[in-house]
Amino acid sequence: MFGLPFDYNEPLFRPPSEAYSLIFQVTLGCSWNKCAFCEMYSSKKFKTRKFEDVKSEIENTAKEYNDIRKVFLADGNAMVLSSAKLIEILTELNRNFPKLNRVSAYALPNDISSKTKEELIELKNAGLKLLYVGIESGDDEVLKMITKGETYNSTLDGLLKAREAGIKLSVMILNGLGGKKYSEQHAINSAKLVNEIKPEFLSTLVLSYPYGEDHFIKKFNGDFIKMTKMDLIKEMKTLIEKTELENTVFRSDHASNYLVLKGNLSRDKNEMLNRINQVLENPEYSGLREEWQRGL
Ligand code: SF4
Repeated sequence: MFGLPFDYNEPLFRPPSEAYSLIFQVTLGCSWNKCAFCEMYSSKKFKTRKFEDVKSEIENTAKEYNDIRKVFLADGNAMVLSSAKLIEILTELNRNFPKLNRVSAYALPNDISSKTKEELIELKNAGLKLLYVGIESGDDEVLKMITKGETYNSTLDGLLKAREAGIKLSVMILNGLGGKKYSEQHAINSAKLVNEIKPEFLSTLVLSYPYGEDHFIKKFNGDFIKMTKMDLIKEMKTLIEKTELENTVFRSDHASNYLVLKGNLSRDKNEMLNRINQVLENPEYSGLREEWQRGL
């Protein structure tokens, strides 16, 4: 969106599906900021923004764009704010944007668990309809090695609480996160966790190394063996095979993915697995054959 009457505190991130949403930064950075693979907010010190500053940005923006329908609350985990503060912000958004029909934010499972079910229902009723949660893995060993600060159980508790309150969930799993050594347990336990959560949306991203592989390996508290693209796709196959979901929209269309898959789990599960098998058996279909032959 161009011509907003305020400046963002860069860097600014949002999920791909929030491309057409208006973004307000209600916090800066990530309150956890310790995950081994993540450098999104490593240049920022976490802080919450003053309500008066957010309020004035909302009011000034509404003078020019009062037909906004979707708002995304940034930065890394806006859900860490107290319920009272979030309600204040949601009230201000509803007052200024009469056509608003969805507010969303990134959240950590612990941020959700720290709120009561009644508070979550109040937030949902005030417009907070969707939370994006990078659960990364359902495997406790992998979660510990990457210093996620969450476990299988803490993730499950937080996300089920959000679901019970009627808040929709979009969860992310990081393909290749445990490296080759932990690949199978990462895929199997991630599928198990997702099966219990039953999110509306599930997506995968591929582990990347913005500051180089060595930088990541130093922060990974385990034996990291980098995976080839073939290994990554085999891991995807295990993950999808093990899912038992009825109505989850799956996407692996983030730029980091080598194989784009989109569909509904379970309706399109077999079709997606067929596509994976086709690529594994005939690498030329993927356009990655030469790289695979060189073991990249
Ligand atoms: S919680 Fe999310 S934003 Fe924060 S460091 Fe971990 S992956 Fe990055």
